Amino acid sequence: MMDVPFNHPAWIEVDLVQFKQNIHAIKQYIGSSVKLCLPIKSNAYGHGLVHIAHAAVAAKVDSLAVSCLQEGILLRQANIKIPILVLGAIHIEQIADFIDYDLEFTISSHFKAKMVAQACEFLNKTVKVHLEVDTGMNRTGVRVETGPMVLEFFRMHKCFILKGVYSHLATADEPDHPFSRRQVDKFLNFISEQGLRDNKDILCHLSNSAGLVSFPEANLDMVRPGGLAFGCYPNPYVPTELSVIKPCFAVRAKVSYFKTVLKGEGVSYSHSYVAQTNIHLLTVPVGYGDGLRRSLSNKASILLNGKRYPMVGNICMDQFMVDIGQDPGYVGNVVTIIGKDQDQDITIEELSQLANTHPYEILCGFNNRLPRVYHTETQSVWENVLTVEQMAE
Ligand SMILES: *Cc1c(COP(=O)(O)O)cnc(C)c1O
Repeated sequence: MMDVPFNHPAWIEVDLVQFKQNIHAIKQYIGSSVKLCLPIKSNAYGHGLVHIAHAAVAAKVDSLAVSCLQEGILLRQANIKIPILVLGAIHIEQIADFIDYDLEFTISSHFKAKMVAQACEFLNKTVKVHLEVDTGMNRTGVRVETGPMVLEFFRMHKCFILKGVYSHLATADEPDHPFSRRQVDKFLNFISEQGLRDNKDILCHLSNSAGLVSFPEANLDMVRPGGLAFGCYPNPYVPTELSVIKPCFAVRAKVSYFKTVLKGEGVSYSHSYVAQTNIHLLTVPVGYGDGLRRSLSNKASILLNGKRYPMVGNICMDQFMVDIGQDPGYVGNVVTIIGKDQDQDITIEELSQLANTHPYEILCGFNNRLPRVYHTETQSVWENVLTVEQMAE
C-alpha cells in the first residue's frame, strides 16, 4: 500500500482475484453453450473500466458491453480486442467512429436503422449491429410489432451485419413480479416467430443479473449480468452455485485529524450532530466530492480496528467525521468505509439501503479522485494516474 499516487490519503481497493472468481462462477453456472457478455458501463460499476476489462478478458468472458461510444473507444485504445457492444441509443454523428473502432452497436428503431443505412452508404462501410426489441421496459427498443419490419430492412440493406437480437427486463429485481415472466415469454415468442432462435449467427440475449438468477430458461445464446459479476446480488434468491460470488470493492482512508469535542458542541455543517458527552472525534478525508453520498450523513458507519463507529454530522465535500466515543484513534490510522475489517463488514447493500438508493448508484458514484489499487494473486497495481508533468503537457 506504500505508493498511493500523490500519497493520497484515501483509495479504492479492487480485489481482482475475487472478481475473476465471480466470472468463473457465472461461466460454470451458464455452461459452455451460453456466452457471457460482461456489462462494464459507468466505469465498470465504479471499479475502473480498463483494469476490469483486462481482467475480464483474462477470465475469458466472450464480450463486453458498455453504454456509449466513448466507453467503447476507451476500451479499444486500451488494446481490448474482444467484441464490444454499445447498449445505449446511438446518434448519427457517431456512426463513423463505431465503424473505425470496430464496435457493435444497438439499433432500437426503424428510424435509426434508416439513418445508419444512409451513413453506411455515404461511408461505403458495413456495421455490426444488434436489434433491441422492447418487451416492456419502455426505455429503448422497437416494439415487438415493428421488429419484423426492421429485420426485413436489415436483410434488404447489405451494410448491416446482424450480430444479435436482444431485450431488457424491467422488473426482474423483484423475483415474484409477474411482469418479468410476461417479458420473457414475449421475447421467446418473438425470436421463435422470426426464426432467430436456431440461427447460429445471430445471438439472442435477454438476461441481466436478475434474469440470470430467476429465469435460467431464458439464458438463450448469451447473458449480460453486470452487477452480479461485481458481487451485487439482484435478489436474495441466488442459487447456491453462485454463492461464491462476493463483492470485490473496498474504500479506505487514513484518519487525517483527531480532536476532543465537548458535550453540547455541534459537529460539521448545520450542526446536525451534537455531542451528548465529551467525545473523541476523527476526521476522514473522503466526502461527497469523491462519491460518498451526502444522504448517508448521520446514518453510515466506518470500521476502525475491526470495530464499528458512526459517521456523525453532515458529510462534507471532502471530509467526514466519526464519533469514536472514549476509544483511542490516531492520525494515520486506516479506516474502512466500504469493505471488511477483521470480522466486520460494511456492504454496498447496507449503504444503499441507508441512502435509500440502488447499490449500483453507490458503486458508480465513486469517481476518479480516489485512486484505485488492483490486487491480484501476486501484486497490487495502482491505476495509471497522470503525473503532474503529464498533466502539464
Ligand atoms: C445495465 C444493463 C445490463 C446489466 O444489468 P445488471 O443488473 O447489472 O446485470 C444488461 N443489459 C442492459 C441493456 C443494461 O443496460
